[in-house]
Amino acid sequence: MKKLYKTLVALSVAATALGAAAQNFPDKPVTIIVPFTAGGPTDRVARDLAEALRKPLGGATVLVDNAAGAGGSIGANKVAKANADGYTLLVHHIGMATMPTLVRNIPFKVETDFEYVGMINDVPMTVIGKPTLPANNMKELAAWVAQNKGKVNLGNAGVGSASHLCGMLFQQALGVEMTSVPYKGTAPAMTDLMGGQIDLMCDQTTNTTSQIEGKKVKAYAVSSPKRLTTPALKDLPTMQEAGYKGFNVSIFHGLYAPKGTPAPVLKKLNDALKVALKDPEFIKKQEGLGAVVVNDKRVEPAEHKKFVASEIAKWSPVIKAAGVYVD
Ligand code: ASP
Repeated sequence: MKKLYKTLVALSVAATALGAAAQNFPDKPVTIIVPFTAGGPTDRVARDLAEALRKPLGGATVLVDNAAGAGGSIGANKVAKANADGYTLLVHHIGMATMPTLVRNIPFKVETDFEYVGMINDVPMTVIGKPTLPANNMKELAAWVAQNKGKVNLGNAGVGSASHLCGMLFQQALGVEMTSVPYKGTAPAMTDLMGGQIDLMCDQTTNTTSQIEGKKVKAYAVSSPKRLTTPALKDLPTMQEAGYKGFNVSIFHGLYAPKGTPAPVLKKLNDALKVALKDPEFIKKQEGLGAVVVNDKRVEPAEHKKFVASEIAKWSPVIKAAGVYVD
């Protein structure tokens, strides 16, 4: 009896401490883990978001930490195993939906090891090439690729990354196999593309818009079904317009916390996310990069989770058919 009493007291003390911790959240810096390299598109979204979250989180410091590799699964695993107190968060992209099929022996479950805080944005992709490529439009690019069969290099952020998925669809569309060159993120791949060490890449507009604007790379098409309105991108045809029917890739980004994060902390995080997504400065920055900030029910945890589940169902057969995996 005494033992039971002691246990109950200990439990209630712990619960009170937890409640107080949740109430005071955040009273120390919050860290967002990005599962790709610094300076890349996911990193960019996370850093803009970190800034926009500061105010609605009561002026808290929001840091960004990069844990790149294995198609985004190394950083995701770090968050899945982190303390579930709201101080370690994950910003991930479509990889949340592709990792379950792609990564063999994945050390966590996307569906059950995370709390879904909400969706951030939708980002189209662009087909870009090294500055010395002789092709000036999609038709000429397709001809150049055909002429250089067996020699064309396509950069990406590793198996299962958004750039890899887009690259797979691109090769299927053109009917030519290319050599995939994996990096830990598309930031270092972009450096090599600009330097001419690789030939082509398909990457989020959040990484490519300023390079296209500065004519540091050649741009051929966008992956979205509609043309974009961003000034530097508005003249690019869609892949569908260029004759590749059904070509449509859009990359989402979302915010996640470890499973078991207390509900009041999650509510604070979701409330802060909603404020950040309405922040005119954040919207302006994202729109300037061709990204569309979420303005619908997918900002709600349950709706975002439903959306990710539908993306898992969409990509799983594509990945299985392509026979690709990460070990
Ligand atoms: N754009 C990368 C990808 O292909 C990710 C990144 O470097 O942020 O998934």
